[in-house]
Amino acid sequence: MKLEQNDRLFDEAKKYTPGGVHTSIRNVNPHLVFTKAEGAYVYDADDNRYLDYQAAFGPFILGHNHPYVNEKVKTALDRTDLYGFGTTDLEIELARKVCRHVPSADKVLFCNSGSEATYHAIRLARAVTSKKKIIKFQGCYHGWHDYVAVNMLSAWDKIGQKDPGSAGMLEEAIEHTLICTFNDLEDVAQQFQKYKGEIAALIIEPIPHNIGCILPEKGFLEGLRILCNENDSLLIFDEVITGFRHHIGGYQAIAGVTPDLTTLGKAMANGYPIAAIAGKDKYMSRFNTNPGGDVWFAGTYNGHAVGTAAAIATIEVMETLPVHDHIFRLGEKMRSGIRDIHERLGISSFVAGIGSVFTSYFMDFEAKNYTDLQHNDADFYVQYRLKLLEKGIFKVPMNLKRNHISFVHTDQDIEYTLAAIESVLIEMRK
Ligand code: PMP
Repeated sequence: MKLEQNDRLFDEAKKYTPGGVHTSIRNVNPHLVFTKAEGAYVYDADDNRYLDYQAAFGPFILGHNHPYVNEKVKTALDRTDLYGFGTTDLEIELARKVCRHVPSADKVLFCNSGSEATYHAIRLARAVTSKKKIIKFQGCYHGWHDYVAVNMLSAWDKIGQKDPGSAGMLEEAIEHTLICTFNDLEDVAQQFQKYKGEIAALIIEPIPHNIGCILPEKGFLEGLRILCNENDSLLIFDEVITGFRHHIGGYQAIAGVTPDLTTLGKAMANGYPIAAIAGKDKYMSRFNTNPGGDVWFAGTYNGHAVGTAAAIATIEVMETLPVHDHIFRLGEKMRSGIRDIHERLGISSFVAGIGSVFTSYFMDFEAKNYTDLQHNDADFYVQYRLKLLEKGIFKVPMNLKRNHISFVHTDQDIEYTLAAIESVLIEMRK
């Protein structure tokens, strides 16, 4: 793989930007400088072409530079942009769509990133309940802000203790964040018991995709719903990844469990920047966008035409074409193909996933939570992905990261990928 131009440009990037990248998780070898994206493919500065399963960590559900979405954005920008006053026809149309599709969404507010959405959700829950504590789960990611940037991808010896994700975070900021184990209702019940009357909310990725794909066991999400009800705490589903990717109504529409608040982003707008917080009217009306509301909600770029037009277009495509049928079918084809390869080659693995999301953990049992994932062979996981990258298959070469199939992927893409996987694994087994 020729990387001359990539290397040259990356050296240039480092002159102006710490580490050369604009978000921590992008500083990974090899340092690629991307120049073009089209459909299922992305291209780097040396014109290497990669079949993309990274999907920018999830937004691309229809494929890169989707012509219909781009056209809708361009058309919107020919006429409108941002006002800092009142609202826009685009915001109204998008809000109507979100409220129609997402079970928990009586009302919705738009912001620009998933982190903003989860921040607002927690602030609202604290205001509504007049309680301080929140529960999150080890391994779940809810954005970079201090209340939740704790116990994410913890080192294995840090599990079971408070593990702030960043220097500069105040101990006080995470004092009220309690950490539980995914799929362990007993653990959650104990926290509710121990901190009776103090827990404002429980925030959860209903499927913790930030550590690949761990599915909630039967009854787990239902049990959380009951515990939150019993303790007058708000249940927040962070559907920034799962929302729109697994179902137009979010994973809640599949699980049949309705949270009080939902955060959305990523696949909602096929790569354009927009996120949302949605929820029950009695809670959402506390935001001060509503006269008399006392919970601050603001943002200069909230509701910008770029994100709103893109989200409307993306949802329209999902409403009219069999997007989820297609990506679910290809997801199943990929997972069963990988399972067959592993079986043929005698590779110990657990091939995980749901719908369009898949990953192979190199371990010999099904992980139920983050702690189980210490049995995954991290080095093999990363080397395998690096070798696939060299073959033009883009799965980000980092431990525990998941892959995404989009509407533009074809049966041929899956077959091509499976052949590449097999040849890489044969090579690695030697
Ligand atoms: N919640 C979840 C579940 C996420 O995966 C992410 C981003 N990976 C966020 C929140 C934060 O979103 P953003 O990066 O847009 O701030």
